[in-house]
Amino acid sequence: MPPHNLHVNIKAMTHTPSLDDPIQFIKGVGPRKAILFEKLGLTSIEDCLYFLPFRFEDRTQLKKISQTVPGEYVTLTGEVLNSGTMFMGRRKRLFEVIVQDETGVIRAKWFQFNESYMKEKFKTGQKIILSGKPTVNKRSGLEIIHPDTEQVTGENVSSLEIGKIVPVYHVTDGLHLKSMRTIIKNVLDKYLHLIEEFLPDDLVLRHNFPSRAEALAQAHFPPQDSSLKELDSFKTPAQKRLVFEELFLIQLGLACRKTRTKGEHTGTPFKTRGELIKRFVKILPFTLTRAQKRVLGEIMEDLEKEKPMNRLIQGDVGSGKTIVALTALLTAVDNGTQSALMVPTEILAEQHYLNIRPFCEKLGIEISLVTSALKGKERQSHFENIQAGRTQIVVGTHSLIQKDIQFKKLGLAVIDEQHRFGVIQREAIGKKGDHPHLLIMTATPIPRSLALTLYGDMDVSLLDEFPPGRREIVTDLFFENRREEAYSRMEKQLQQGRQAFVVCPLIEESEVIDLKAAVTVFDFIQENFPQFTACLIHGKLKKEERQDIMSRFLKKEIQVLVSTTVIEVGIDVPNATVMIIEHAERFGLAQLHQLRGRVGRGSHASHCLLLAYHPISEEGQARMKAMQNSSDGFIIAEEDLKIRGPGDFMGTRQSGLPLLKIANLLRDIQFLEIARKEAFHLINRDPGLTDQKHQRLKKALQRFLGNYMELMEVI
Ligand code: ADP
Ligand code: MG
Repeated sequence: MPPHNLHVNIKAMTHTPSLDDPIQFIKGVGPRKAILFEKLGLTSIEDCLYFLPFRFEDRTQLKKISQTVPGEYVTLTGEVLNSGTMFMGRRKRLFEVIVQDETGVIRAKWFQFNESYMKEKFKTGQKIILSGKPTVNKRSGLEIIHPDTEQVTGENVSSLEIGKIVPVYHVTDGLHLKSMRTIIKNVLDKYLHLIEEFLPDDLVLRHNFPSRAEALAQAHFPPQDSSLKELDSFKTPAQKRLVFEELFLIQLGLACRKTRTKGEHTGTPFKTRGELIKRFVKILPFTLTRAQKRVLGEIMEDLEKEKPMNRLIQGDVGSGKTIVALTALLTAVDNGTQSALMVPTEILAEQHYLNIRPFCEKLGIEISLVTSALKGKERQSHFENIQAGRTQIVVGTHSLIQKDIQFKKLGLAVIDEQHRFGVIQREAIGKKGDHPHLLIMTATPIPRSLALTLYGDMDVSLLDEFPPGRREIVTDLFFENRREEAYSRMEKQLQQGRQAFVVCPLIEESEVIDLKAAVTVFDFIQENFPQFTACLIHGKLKKEERQDIMSRFLKKEIQVLVSTTVIEVGIDVPNATVMIIEHAERFGLAQLHQLRGRVGRGSHASHCLLLAYHPISEEGQARMKAMQNSSDGFIIAEEDLKIRGPGDFMGTRQSGLPLLKIANLLRDIQFLEIARKEAFHLINRDPGLTDQKHQRLKKALQRFLGNYMELMEVI
């Protein structure tokens, strides 16, 4: 026996199989295949077990060729009449197999093939089975492109491909569906006995779930009598259980996190509605909306407690979050602590600073702005003031979580536009103090399913009312041939004393190129509307220049503000009533909605004018339509999720969210709610999962969360 074989044998003898085994332990997976599997994100046995088919094909019924309907998936059996390579044009080749049964002929065609292999496989007279979606070719009639095929031999009884409901997996170049099926089957045969139940018995009973092992086996290779419709919509008992399992583990992690932040650590209880707040309310230029009062009430209740607040405010653009935040910031100051407001961009930080500073001046509160633009001595002295506690409110970007910035006593941190930050930053700002209260604000109304997952460990307040006197924003779409019409709409508004934003999109990940596009638009406006003052603002300008432009815009010295997308969030100019978005088709829905929210902030009717240019993708069209159809952020968010699909929605790693392997937040929302209820219920009864009968669950949870850094330390 050659030595390397010996080695393998010894390994096989001594190794105790585990779900962590690399997939090379499976028959049929060598180093080359292992690389292909890795491309799919699959390295271990467990990965494979949870790599579920995304659709199924019903091959339980063999049809006759004459029964096929173009466009409908079919499995046929017949005999090879003829086969061979055909040439079409100079370099294009295809391999064609003509198959016949007693009712007719059909052609199978491959554009990528290994000629000698195909010739060998499809010899004239060979009986074969083929599956696929037939189409009609004008010249040659019925055909199937790249069908799954199998030679009919005596062994077909045990085939994975034929006479069954057959799973379809995502594969990659060089890895065929057929070998994927075989390998997964081998994985199941060899490792399924290792799969233990970890869900509590009563829960399994209550929901009538199949066991975990059973569910995994059937989710890959469903029983003969399964309904294809149920399978494809992921609603068989096996699939439902696996979806539940995944969502349950996430919610369990969140529940643990929530009880931890609520339980163990004690923060600083505040006295609320103190002197400072009373003075502040007096200088407020308006009365708070009912929603603002309610949300503030919820915040105050949290702040009075010893447990640190961990609250999210969801409020659409323009719903008045800033004042709510400022009230909280001042409450912290009133209690002798410092407070911080962290935002994702410098411009927004500057904006908030400019908005808040006048109030602070009147109240005699020291406020400072910290961004990366702060350099040298100035930076030094800002930092010293913060460390000494002389600065009471700090507004800034993620510069706030740098190592060298230290607070004397940070009592409250507010994060605005949270969707731009990950969970990591949320934690980092919290570490700048001794369990400070935490308030997160987001203007991106995310779909409920996502909120429950992303912010599942927080208390949520809804700011669901706009300040009074708001006028509806009219949203219109213009293609390039009507561009002038859009700009003359702007002109009319300017003539009435209003102001306008013109936003130019991110074209490439290069600010230089972006800027060029914005400059072109800027020139166009100066040329065509010389009677108005226009200004160009972008990320490359110095802080002072930007601040200067913004304050001149606020003072109405500038009528048209042309900008790159840097002004996306948070800017507040009530007299601006026109938002022109150039190349609107290139923006995402959330971004478009944010931009639109820049107008409609005063008492005048406002206009959001979307300028789109061909070619425009189907998704782009859907986005334009969604914008025209609704101005409700939540509806927009749901549309966004539908258009992009959950994969992409969450795929932006930014979300700080575990990527779901099985569950789909669009499809499985009901399950999410059930899983959440069950998880929180369980953690309420057994907070540390210490009960003997929850030990397997605890282990499963630790293993599961181990994959998601930021949730890891919850248990
Ligand atoms: P967002 O929720 O988008 O951050 P802002 O806090 O910037 O909204 O508020 C939008 C505008 O509404 C600002 O001009 C703000 O001064 C104003 N505003 C906030 N609350 C009220 C209110 N209760 N009554 C009138 N105007 C308000
Ligand atoms: Mg805001």
